[in-house]
Amino acid sequence: MKEVSEQLNKYQKKNLKSELKKGYVDALKKPEFKKLITLLKVKEEVALKYTSKLEETSLDLVNCSKCKSLYECTNKIQGHVFYPDVVDDELEFNYVPCKYHKKEQKILDSIKTEFFEIPLEIKKAKMADIDLTDKNRAPINKWLSKFFKDYQNNKNLKGLYLHGSFGSGKTYLVSALLNELANNGYKSVIIYYPELLRSLKEAFDDNSFPERMKVLLEADLLLLDDIGAESVTSWNRDEILGTILQYRMDNKLPTFFTSNLNIKELESHFVTKNQAEEQIKARRIIERIKQITDTQELISENRRK
Ligand code: ADP
Ligand code: MG
Repeated sequence: MKEVSEQLNKYQKKNLKSELKKGYVDALKKPEFKKLITLLKVKEEVALKYTSKLEETSLDLVNCSKCKSLYECTNKIQGHVFYPDVVDDELEFNYVPCKYHKKEQKILDSIKTEFFEIPLEIKKAKMADIDLTDKNRAPINKWLSKFFKDYQNNKNLKGLYLHGSFGSGKTYLVSALLNELANNGYKSVIIYYPELLRSLKEAFDDNSFPERMKVLLEADLLLLDDIGAESVTSWNRDEILGTILQYRMDNKLPTFFTSNLNIKELESHFVTKNQAEEQIKARRIIERIKQITDTQELISENRRK
């Protein structure tokens, strides 16, 4: 009995080996696969165990050979190649970043702003890249340039309440200024306001709340992005926003806001119940925002793809 099963085992192993070999030999007919094997200098008896993974690698490499930027990457993990290391006669596969990904990472690493839930293209915003042909933006560009210049001599400047149409570039423009100043050594913080509120609620549970608030209170420059898109509670309006505004006003630290709502609409947004007391509280917040900012409007084409 034992002999039979051993025989069977041997037969199956042999069969498997010839199957593997067949798949491998087939794959070798593809020039890109052959090229990869030559490049890796891996022994045939090792390589044939990994034929399908190596085929994935060679497909990634073919994509890469035609690719000109991170944004056209068609590999399974964007900006990465599924690539093997030869370790003790075995192959270990990892997703390795490509040259475009590395370049992008280097740019991102060079930006000193602290971000929270902000898209990549905004993180890379630079004043030098601001589109000067858009006439609608001229007054805002002027305001931003003046702020940049004046801030070197006076840290107690008013920030900006920038409101207007969706996708017109509000977040981009303010971020370009704050990134520029961050690279000049100032502490810039840019946060997507609705998400901040959600995360601050969680921060209560893991006791990181004071530390997180401290960042917002003490940043040299702060952008509360998309204020008015959050769902208002008396807690987030009075305890969070009220506290941030009061501290930054007392310490004369510039604060920036972007919003789809103008200041009047924002005031109504802050009234959660139709009560006189609510209206007073909303008014108090609005008065603080008005005190610490200039207002600009940006109505322009939607640049979002
Ligand atoms: P808003 O905050 O007004 O809704 P965004 O600032 O998010 O609009 O801009 C919309 C899109 O346009 C974003 O993808 C942003 O990266 C892009 N964008 C805006 N301004 C510029 C610019 N000057 N140069 C390049 N891309 C820009
Ligand atoms: Mg925005």
